[in-house]
Amino acid sequence: MALPNIDASKLTKTLTTAPKPVPDSKTLTFGKGFTDHMLCIRYTEDDGWSAPEIKPYGPLEIDPAAFVLNYGVEAFEGMKAFRAADGTVNLFRPEMNMRRLSTSAQRLMLPAFDEEQFLECIKELVRLDERFVPSEYGYSLYIRPNFIGTEPNLNLKYSREALLYVYLSPAGPYFPRTVKLHASTTDARAWPGGVGSFKVGGNYAPALRPAMDCVKAGYDQILWLLGDDHYVTEVGTMNFFIFWTTPEGVRELVTAPLDGIILPGVTRDSLLALARKWGDFAVSERRVTMPELVQALADGRVLEAFGAGTACVVCSVATILYKGVDYQIPVDPADPDAVYGPLTARLRSELLDIQYGKTPSPWTVSI
Ligand SMILES: *Cc1c(COP(=O)(O)O)cnc(C)c1O
Repeated sequence: MALPNIDASKLTKTLTTAPKPVPDSKTLTFGKGFTDHMLCIRYTEDDGWSAPEIKPYGPLEIDPAAFVLNYGVEAFEGMKAFRAADGTVNLFRPEMNMRRLSTSAQRLMLPAFDEEQFLECIKELVRLDERFVPSEYGYSLYIRPNFIGTEPNLNLKYSREALLYVYLSPAGPYFPRTVKLHASTTDARAWPGGVGSFKVGGNYAPALRPAMDCVKAGYDQILWLLGDDHYVTEVGTMNFFIFWTTPEGVRELVTAPLDGIILPGVTRDSLLALARKWGDFAVSERRVTMPELVQALADGRVLEAFGAGTACVVCSVATILYKGVDYQIPVDPADPDAVYGPLTARLRSELLDIQYGKTPSPWTVSI
């Protein structure tokens, strides 16, 4: 007989006895301060998935010898709940996050789970802590699912026990400004045969030191390059887009392909779909190298460059340091103070209008 999978109808709730005040929206940043409750679902190889539990937000109890603490068996997701003008709360393409978490889990030998039932449990958690979903445009409730291997066993096979849990953090708008990137020629984030396309914790810890060195040098984030030809892959937690005119004279929005190196962003996929629907210019997923970008800048063919991810939506890139030279990228030639280029701004507002329910879309999933 098949072992039990996640079953949202078996969800139990233990409510907090000490509800937190909803933080003043003006104080909200990103990633700090959590709501009243969290969702926990345990798995063991012998018994399958246990009944999902919602309980007060608080420390987890984990064996010191747990797999995750020794070997970094951890995958995560990042998604948001948005409040529409009429007060309803929506998720944005959450099934893509469920799929990606499954894919990441598979890569780490974490167990398979029922994506729809897990999403139902997440919706229930958001419904319960709904008062923490800010109502201001640009604000949201960030949802962080974590999936960890918890078996206490130093034997490096795979974790026969796991914990899937979710907590929520009210988030303010990303401060709108342009960013400066350092195109690193010494450090790599991902490589062929590696795990760059999975949202697993092991990809992020080794990136911290190069990223902090880059901040010390006055840049915001690293633009990760790969290989001797300096293929432009992506930024710390953002996919990278260039809007330019190709040497053949074609106006093109281009981003790295899903070649196993970059993280398949939900924002990336959504922006590509929007731009393809407009049909105003070519939209390509293909490899671009740093020397090609430098040549295009020298020729005056680059129109805009931006990063894209759930946290910031889009973020215009104004400077790229490469081999000791600061290359300036145009933002908006018509407005020296602009923080978004014209195309970047258009993509941003179309996406936000969908996320905040102004534009009806099949991507919107009501809780
Ligand atoms: C999460 C992430 C992104 C963006 O993905 P979204 O689904 O759009 O939020 C891009 N790159 C990396 C490395 C990431 O971890």
